[in-house]
Amino acid sequence: MARKRVVFLMSDTGGGHRAAADAIRAAMEIKYPDEYLFELVDVYRRYTPFPFTYMPEVYAPWVNWAAHSWEFGYEFANTRHRGRLVMAVAKQLWKNGMRRLIQEHPTDVMVSVHSLFNRPVMHAYNTTQKFRPPFVTVITDLVTTHAFWYEPDVDRCLAPTQAAYDRGLFFGLKPEQMRITGLPVHPQFMKKLVAKDEARRKLNWDSHHPAVLLVGGGEGMGPLYQIARAINSRKLDMQLIIIAGRNQALKQRLESSSWNQPTIIYPFVHNMPELMAAADILVTKAGPGTICEACIAGVPLILSSFVPGQEDGNVTHVVENNAGVYAPGGVNVAETISQWLDEGSEGLAARSASARALGRPNAVWEIAEEIHLQAQKPPVRTRYHAEHQPHLGHTPEDGWVI
Ligand code: UDP
Repeated sequence: MARKRVVFLMSDTGGGHRAAADAIRAAMEIKYPDEYLFELVDVYRRYTPFPFTYMPEVYAPWVNWAAHSWEFGYEFANTRHRGRLVMAVAKQLWKNGMRRLIQEHPTDVMVSVHSLFNRPVMHAYNTTQKFRPPFVTVITDLVTTHAFWYEPDVDRCLAPTQAAYDRGLFFGLKPEQMRITGLPVHPQFMKKLVAKDEARRKLNWDSHHPAVLLVGGGEGMGPLYQIARAINSRKLDMQLIIIAGRNQALKQRLESSSWNQPTIIYPFVHNMPELMAAADILVTKAGPGTICEACIAGVPLILSSFVPGQEDGNVTHVVENNAGVYAPGGVNVAETISQWLDEGSEGLAARSASARALGRPNAVWEIAEEIHLQAQKPPVRTRYHAEHQPHLGHTPEDGWVI
């Protein structure tokens, strides 16, 4: 039997979108072996015009160094009316690219793991084709999810939290289009969560000192250097593990510093589950992927910063569910670590249990199942079809409510 096709719409703006697509693909390959062919499309890179095509490069420096202008843009478009306005512009500017995308990537099910592309791609189907493949949105932000996620024509919109689900209803989606699944985390992540001793042996970490893992998403974002130095100045009885991610300059700066406690510096790592299995405390910006992984691994979180806009609500989500605390800036982080270490191993074990209670290790399997179900369905009539077959009833070409 011919394999069905799954196309993922994503972009390397931050690490989370690709991580989500990789996770879902892996789960589908395990659950439905040899049934699917997968394609990952970096939409910004390949199908938008200049300057959008450089978003994968621009995103991290922008969020890092000009957070307020990022927040302004994000919040400006985050209402029904202004969101619609911004999308109307995007649809026009990106029209040719999106039409090329759907021609070059015919599929049995379209899966979007990026908020920006839902409307423009749906618009391309609605204006050029009578039928389109079933379309599934998998939201990869946690709580303060942007209006752009909620394209009302989609067949399924899978939300990570109740708050994200409720926002979908607010922006016009129907309950039957939505489901709360949790955020997809790679099946290998669960599989590789070995016991702490074993993970430390494999990683060559000290086996006695509590391990504090410091990470700033895939890009090494946020003031990681300042936080590391503030922790260092406390001379705590611990070991410090820093992941610089793709931030080469940060890695070099960290490597040329001297440290008061055993300290290991990694570039972008491909064995995050091992590192989380070995860690006692995770210090991170409030990235959704990292938060969900830490909860599954049972590592309590110290959130040191958040990307304004899409990560605002992640802090509340973690704090209200007792999975961690918010401690902005190096001094607060170092003080919190010191307090947690003073509580001893029992205190850390209790914090670990609270974090684990928030984890949703089954999310990726539920999402895989939803996509599989959609892939079995026949193509869906588009609005174009309705317009050209008046007896089916006229639907306005652009009925988007956002
Ligand atoms: N990550 C990784 N290796 C690294 C740093 C990060 O695999 O060296 C992964 C991390 O495990 C998570 C993702 O990158 O799955 C980061 O996603 P998150 O949503 O936390 O932040 P983003 O980078 O998207 O802002």
